[in-house]
Amino acid sequence: MRYYEFTFIVAVNSRDALTQKVLAMGCPGVVENDKGFVAYFPESLDINFISKELVLFKTILKNSGLASDFSFDYTLLPDTDWNETWKESFKPMEIGSFTILPPWEKKSEGRINLIIDPGMAFGTGHHETTRKCLVLLERFSNECGKGRLLDVGTGTGILAIAASFLGFEHITAVDTDPLAIDAAQRNAALNGVSNVEIISGSIADTCGVYDFITANLVSDVLSLMAGELAARLNNPGIAVLSGMLRGQEAGVIEAMEGAGLTVTEKIFDGKWVSIIARAQAEQTRHD
Ligand code: SAH
Repeated sequence: MRYYEFTFIVAVNSRDALTQKVLAMGCPGVVENDKGFVAYFPESLDINFISKELVLFKTILKNSGLASDFSFDYTLLPDTDWNETWKESFKPMEIGSFTILPPWEKKSEGRINLIIDPGMAFGTGHHETTRKCLVLLERFSNECGKGRLLDVGTGTGILAIAASFLGFEHITAVDTDPLAIDAAQRNAALNGVSNVEIISGSIADTCGVYDFITANLVSDVLSLMAGELAARLNNPGIAVLSGMLRGQEAGVIEAMEGAGLTVTEKIFDGKWVSIIARAQAEQTRHD
């Protein structure tokens, strides 16, 4: 499959909002640069629709008080360019006990090597929210049973595979994007993990309860999913919820608490916020 490469020149204060918009329109990942970022869309998507949506988005930015003067240009890439682009930009990265590396790099000794062949899915560890989720997954994984873990919006499968390495017995990974399902299956095989069940769909397609849930999604999706997340979380159980921009977390917290979960931690990382939600009451802490 071929991909459209969109090059965005955009002011710093509207970069995140625009990134979320392109991800919501089916772009599986962006590569930031000094002037803005580059986004890739599969050829199968309706590029005219995407272009029109982007023009409309300028008004939304303007109405939100953000810089609305972004510009973009796009080109259809030949088939071969895509892999080369990734190979150049995807270098090994250390996150907690993990070294995240593409299949063509040498493994690090004494580390948990997690191989990610990104394909067209989001989740190489280069995005702040993925990094934060991995760190929080490792940090909180000992605080509850390591029985069943659910990863909602698995992308490349990075968090689900990490959970397998951390000792969770059974992992369910769901994603609505078929490209993510392909990538997650390929990566589970590359890492030799056999206890990750990958399901095409969302949280509604899962059953039972889970000791741990990871969900690195956008704020609106998290808020809409609050009831289902609460229903799927064991008691005691922990959910790492990420992908919120600063200022958006209040709405997500309200939704989670309205669904009966207790938010015990808010973790700020630059522009991004992650929260820890639990199925049991605890005093609120911040770090
Ligand atoms: N977990 C990975 C990927 C996060 S990107 C990481 O932390 O890096 C978010 C992923 O969620 C995308 O692959 C997207 O396709 C998927 N997604 C978006 N909305 C979803 C929904 N409602 N249910 C399931 N998956 C969803």
